[in-house]
Amino acid sequence: MILGSGWGGFKLIRETDKEKYQVVAVSPRNHFLFTPLLASTSVGTLEFRCITEPVRAYTGDVEYHQAWCDTIDFDKHKVACTLNLATSPETVDTPQHVELQYDHLIISVGSYSNTFNIPGVKEHGFFLKEVSDARKIRQRVLECFERAEMAKTDQEKNDLLHFAVVGGGPTGVEFSSELHDFIREDCSRLFPSLMNHVTLAVYDVAPKILASFDQSLSEYCMTKFRRSGIEVRTETVIDRVEDGRLLLKGGQEVKFGCLVWSTGLTENPLVAALEGQVMKSRNRRILTDEYLRVLDPQGKIIPNVYALGDCATIKDHEVPQTAQVANQQAIWLRKALNTMAKRPEKDMTEITKPFSFKNMGTMAYIGNWEAVVDMTTLNKEAKESGHMAWVFWRSSYLTMSVSLRNKMLIPMYWLTTWLFGRDVSSFQVYDRRHREAIGSRTNTHVV
Ligand SMILES: Cc1cc2nc3c(=O)[nH]c(=O)nc-3n(C[C@H](O)[C@H](O)[C@H](O)COP(=O)(O)OP(=O)(O)OC[C@H]3O[C@@H](n4cnc5c(N)ncnc54)[C@H](O)[C@@H]3O)c2cc1C
Repeated sequence: MILGSGWGGFKLIRETDKEKYQVVAVSPRNHFLFTPLLASTSVGTLEFRCITEPVRAYTGDVEYHQAWCDTIDFDKHKVACTLNLATSPETVDTPQHVELQYDHLIISVGSYSNTFNIPGVKEHGFFLKEVSDARKIRQRVLECFERAEMAKTDQEKNDLLHFAVVGGGPTGVEFSSELHDFIREDCSRLFPSLMNHVTLAVYDVAPKILASFDQSLSEYCMTKFRRSGIEVRTETVIDRVEDGRLLLKGGQEVKFGCLVWSTGLTENPLVAALEGQVMKSRNRRILTDEYLRVLDPQGKIIPNVYALGDCATIKDHEVPQTAQVANQQAIWLRKALNTMAKRPEKDMTEITKPFSFKNMGTMAYIGNWEAVVDMTTLNKEAKESGHMAWVFWRSSYLTMSVSLRNKMLIPMYWLTTWLFGRDVSSFQVYDRRHREAIGSRTNTHVV
């Protein structure tokens, strides 16, 4: 049984040997999401469907349940789940529960965005974790421009067109860059009179952005951002968020039209529910041994239960919460499980070496066809910034995307965006009016 269809789970769902195992997948999200290109979809550089892979398309021989796993009983080998299905977008169904039995369990449920309990973030900020988040951001950005177009005063326009990104890690930087490209290349054409009112700022508590990158690359990004007009507000602490207002420590207030929050990760509710059943790290991730086997609170291995990806880390060998780690772990576990099935009499430690993470480096898009690539973990000299790095960034993600369909769609959308600009259609309001209108007409009988 595999919990989750993300970077860890999806690979295992696809590649576990179905001749040897009956694979059951449980995930509330019925698709895999290629997260490195999610920021591109939030402004329309790419369309949402070219970065997703439906689980069903790969699960002819897999039993799939579109459900949340709520609790796990390790003694009885059972998981309790709630179906993630609604009959119509307007109704909230009575939750439907199912219990499922497993022999081997793989937990790869990922993590949630961390708000550090700062009041108002959940209510007034946008996150960037799922396709639904990217859709909401895209709609809000367009709404800000449309509202500003009708605003009466310059102050109102300035407030609506201040875009605030909190978190200067790779996700925050990539989103800011994509948004800056969108404003410069498309909004300047569509809303020319508003351009003087637009401001974009990245806020971070740390003294620099892209702090995990080589220092020269982090500085390159900060200089480039400042030159492009993106304000970099480092060493800035956010105290509170209110509707359209950021309140900074020290009393300063900043009005915004759209706030995107990207400051780190916290535990998934399932992992929180496993309190007292598994050993956890300081940052609330499930602890495993080097064979990805989950440990109980006393440090003993829980038989046939594995955890990988963002929700877990290895005892005494902390691994980062990246797709690269989840992907390498999934490949390692798939090989180990497939070999174990052929030699069931052997212990895992006898058939494979422990998992070890090979850091292949990191990259980030920094706007205007430039990127930074840091591979100094492999070779001290291996770092690049600018247009060449951008070519490397794009070709790497194109190569890594999963299906042939998406390998074709992604460059097609890149080309379309370059030739014709990003699509600025928004669909939300029309649908509600349409339903209301249909509702009122069906009650009228015309003779
Ligand atoms: C915008 C963005 C950009 C990123 N860019 C990069 C990058 O360039 N390079 C990189 O290495 N990493 C990147 N990351 C990080 C990377 O996406 C994560 O580290 C990776 O997704 C972790 O994989 P995972 O399988 O652990 O979790 P996820 O991919 O998050 O998958 C978790 C799965 O579990 C499911 N799930 C959740 N709760 C339950 C439950 N209760 N029961 C069952 N299933 C459940 C979810 O629906 C999902 O299918 C990025 C992340 C984001 C958000």
